[in-house]
Amino acid sequence: MAETNPARYSFSGYPLCKLSLSFLFLTFLIVAATANDSGFPSSHTGKPHHSKKLTKPVVLLISSDGFRFGYQYKTDTPNIDLLISRGTEAKTGLIPVFPSMTFPNHNSIATGLYPAYHGIIMNKFTDPVTGELFKRNLDPKWWLGEPLWVTATNQGLKAATYFWPGADVHKGSWTCPKGFCKAPYNASVPLEERVDTILSYFDLPQSEVPDFMALYLEETDVQGHEYGPDDPRVTEAVAKIDKMISRVIKGLKKRKVFSDVHVILLGDHGMVTNCDKKVIYIDDLADWIKIPAEWIQDYSPVLVMNPRWGKDVKNPGEKNAEVVAKMNEALRSGKVENGEFLQVYLKEKLPERLHYSDSSRIPPIIGMVGEGLMVRQNRTNVQECFGDHGYDNMFFSMRSIFIGHGPRFRRGKKVPSFENVQIYNVVAEILGLRPAPNNGSSLFTRSLLMPTGETMQVK
Ligand SMILES: [Zn+2]
Repeated sequence: MAETNPARYSFSGYPLCKLSLSFLFLTFLIVAATANDSGFPSSHTGKPHHSKKLTKPVVLLISSDGFRFGYQYKTDTPNIDLLISRGTEAKTGLIPVFPSMTFPNHNSIATGLYPAYHGIIMNKFTDPVTGELFKRNLDPKWWLGEPLWVTATNQGLKAATYFWPGADVHKGSWTCPKGFCKAPYNASVPLEERVDTILSYFDLPQSEVPDFMALYLEETDVQGHEYGPDDPRVTEAVAKIDKMISRVIKGLKKRKVFSDVHVILLGDHGMVTNCDKKVIYIDDLADWIKIPAEWIQDYSPVLVMNPRWGKDVKNPGEKNAEVVAKMNEALRSGKVENGEFLQVYLKEKLPERLHYSDSSRIPPIIGMVGEGLMVRQNRTNVQECFGDHGYDNMFFSMRSIFIGHGPRFRRGKKVPSFENVQIYNVVAEILGLRPAPNNGSSLFTRSLLMPTGETMQVK
């Protein structure tokens, strides 16, 4: 099961003691250089200033759905650039979890768990054991992890969410309180209204200001799906997101809390162009094996299969293995159009890096589809192009962005790409929360965050 395992996920492989020394020295230099602007300790006293308007840590987590890494270069994005230049950025993007879909990824960001462990293994799926359909259900039995708003409220902090996928599920001390939990999702609510609602929380007495806030914006995903990532309407969507970031910055500055708030801007996944010219047809495998459409739960960007063997079949696992072998034989034969772009696996045999086998909810056969390819049962006359995501998280096109700005984030720092399961611990560390067991590394937080003032005083 999921657990924090620093040894396994150590970001640099440094022994702990060596890391600590260089880390403290580096921290001293950075804090000394930035003390006045960040509200952190000045180098000569080592004591925190208390001139900040907000005297408690606050995190505002903003997700721009489908904001592919690189979109920030499509057009002028002065406000995103400001967060980057004064904050910490994943230099070559944020790596989503597999499958690179919206619900699994938003929940991995919120819980620090891979989908096999938080239970939301796809946006929509049928549990192979119970036969029940998950389609954005709010029954807590589907949602196995502990998201940040639950961790926060369980430990006495306040949280607020605006359309974040899964945040309307009641768990622990979190009841999706009216006024602080905007749901259900409603695409017609203007992005400005969402931002302004979040900003209005800063007008509350400080004790009432939510410690953790999560805001969801979908513009880049909507346009990316409709027209593909290389379309002027996606460029417009990027400009619109930058305008929303401007609204956030201006709103926080007006309230004199911009330098006190930890603003995290990220996305759940990227986007790639799909066209009907790049398709693998299941019926083309018929000379090797006939695959009935009812075995297939999803075609692409992930092929998901749960063969229905009758009661007479004693060992369905063996039969599934035969199906996989026959399909791969066909796909490698050179006689199936685009066959080289689909590889089929028993879920237990999927590459370990995908972390996608340890759940009874994952159907027994998974096909990994090539970047930008599609799988269909048979040929149709459809001829269209659009955008999609959900592919192998190894593909660069599936990456999104990560920018952290605020008192604890390192300034002007670029870090190597990392998986979004690390973010839960980062937010927990900023808010001083005890993290629930998760797949991130507690050591990882040090690559993004400066130590607390207390740590500096110890030094
Ligand atoms: Zn998404």
